[in-house]
Amino acid sequence: MVILTRWRGQSLTLSTKPNCLTLSLQSGKETRVFSFDGEGRFWTGMVQNISYRRGLDGKIVAKWQEEGSTQRGRRWLSKEESARLQESARQVCEDLLNDIQDGRLTLNPALDERGWAFLRRAVEFTPQRYRQDVVRYHAVYRPVGILPPDQYMAVVLQAAEGCSFNTCTFCNFYRDRPFRIKKPDEFREHMKAVREFLGEGLSLRRTIFLGDANALVIPMPRLVELMEAVHEQFDVEHLGGIYAFLDGFSAEKKTPEDYARLRELGLRRVYIGMESGNDALLRFLKKPGTAGDVVQAVQAIKRGGVAVGIILLLGAGGHQFAQQHVTDSIRTLQAMPLDADDLIYFSELVEGEGMEYTRDAFQAHLHPLTPEERIAQGEAIEQALSFSEDTGTPHISRYDIREFVY
Ligand code: SF4
Repeated sequence: MVILTRWRGQSLTLSTKPNCLTLSLQSGKETRVFSFDGEGRFWTGMVQNISYRRGLDGKIVAKWQEEGSTQRGRRWLSKEESARLQESARQVCEDLLNDIQDGRLTLNPALDERGWAFLRRAVEFTPQRYRQDVVRYHAVYRPVGILPPDQYMAVVLQAAEGCSFNTCTFCNFYRDRPFRIKKPDEFREHMKAVREFLGEGLSLRRTIFLGDANALVIPMPRLVELMEAVHEQFDVEHLGGIYAFLDGFSAEKKTPEDYARLRELGLRRVYIGMESGNDALLRFLKKPGTAGDVVQAVQAIKRGGVAVGIILLLGAGGHQFAQQHVTDSIRTLQAMPLDADDLIYFSELVEGEGMEYTRDAFQAHLHPLTPEERIAQGEAIEQALSFSEDTGTPHISRYDIREFVY
């Protein structure tokens, strides 16, 4: 339902969808847009051409287009900035609700029942409620390290915690926790807590993501039991299926029959951080497994009827590895039976202080690629790829881990 009207000297567009409420206010050249999930949490916003996205953990990322550049700017808001933005969005909802209730504004058509419920819930999300919501989030989840970009709107279910390898020098996502697989009853409790936490906000979620870093290394009998438990609490089909990472494919090898069984249980896509097709570079990165292992894993997954998402690390190994990284990554990708259901992501290496990779690269006298050279590396790989017209081309896009939000 979309309602257009004038309110307090501005144009107001009020849009209610089954899963969210969006308010858009325009005054002269200034546009403000705020949207809320079914529970009333601020979700996205746009103010003075800066877009905002709030994660369930309460963190808000601001993004904008740099003037005269194709580059995007980005910054995570401080707690105070986040609170101010959330409160200004809530205040708009409160003013609107009061004006409607007190007869100062008449909407035509009138708000339907869902619209009223959404608006009231957004008003009820006071600063204190936001603080409580973040506390609840952290009671339900261990920090969600990373997700593929097409899974930011998933319902994350942590069937396992951490990464069973934790050796890759460029990855600090799970260093704070040992790998462990949840027992079915503990996982059921976790899922129940996730459901209760999301509340009506569940309707905004699009898929189920089985966490953490490599849930698919869980041995088959235990994995089947955990995935069956997901069906007890979620309508997997309605939510768009189950997605998960598989990393360190040298360990628990699953057969095409295993993947076919997992497909029956709702598995739709497996994301593999291949990083590079060059084994020497994989060794330098302390990534478990070889490029050949990835090809075998992809063959088994695809034969089981499940799609894949392959992630490559741009800039890894600097100039010294650049040529072989490109050549071998192209060769490895071309050895995979990829089709239009699959994804290829180019993820830029993000170096940070205290990261093992940064130290190793320094000690090995590697010359890092500039951001432009990293992008060019992705373009070189993409341009060299060719796919069969019969099966179609995988979707290829960028993956910026600095923008990850859940
Ligand atoms: S296997 Fe994946 S999650 Fe684990 S350390 Fe390596 S990149 Fe990180």
